[in-house]
Amino acid sequence: MRFIALAVILCAGYFCSTAFAHPRGDWTKLIITRHWPQTFCSVEQCTTNLSYWTLHGLWPNTGMRCNTSWHFNVSLIEDLIPEMEKYWPDLLAPTSPKFWQYEWTKHGTCAAKADSLNSQHKYFSKALELNLKYDLNSVLKNNNIVPSEEYYTLDQVETAITGFFGVKSKIQCVHSGKVQTLGQIELCVDRDFQLIDCEKSSKEIWSNDIPAVLVSSQSDLSVCDHSVPVYYPPVPSRS
Ligand code: 5GP
Repeated sequence: MRFIALAVILCAGYFCSTAFAHPRGDWTKLIITRHWPQTFCSVEQCTTNLSYWTLHGLWPNTGMRCNTSWHFNVSLIEDLIPEMEKYWPDLLAPTSPKFWQYEWTKHGTCAAKADSLNSQHKYFSKALELNLKYDLNSVLKNNNIVPSEEYYTLDQVETAITGFFGVKSKIQCVHSGKVQTLGQIELCVDRDFQLIDCEKSSKEIWSNDIPAVLVSSQSDLSVCDHSVPVYYPPVPSRS
């Protein structure tokens, strides 16, 4: 009973404070989320030979499915398709635009509340631009963090990213006993697309943001653990 009362108070507090902090549902932060295809396909039904971080999404910190009647139309991003297929592939169905449609409906329609992202073309081209501008692949490689059978520490990965970008990222892993597999890295930008810290105090999260658990629905992933070795899986060699 006490638990239910606490949950009601917390939820009411969250929705009220969010409503006041963002009266028009405006977001304050965008989360550029990239995932490691080998890890994704180790938990989902797919195979991939991609050996670079690909886009999972560009997520505003507030709002989900802000306008479900604003339908995704692939013909509006026709000119972006070669880049989309390369950098934002649907790892489950490589020839289908369904993943882009899903991301647009869930996150893009909320991002589009900002004038700078108020069309499908603006949203997807900004995601592609940010993905290349804040390139994870070269940062990790330049810090000798490469996919291999060696294990890394989370500190090494964090130091590489924070050392280069100068902000805190959110690094997520798939956990399996004594090791954890590097799965997803989030970098955050403000409304001017300048890097800012992703990680915040719990107070700030409750007053401004959607709780992280609601934003990231890929259930196999959670924040990596400092005390567990990190596996960064290579592309399996073809026999
Ligand atoms: P979110 O809802 O957080 O934007 O995305 C999470 C969902 O996207 C999860 O259900 C996850 O399985 C799915 N997802 C992540 N990567 C891919 C992909 O490459 N293709 C497809 N079809 N779904 C994906």
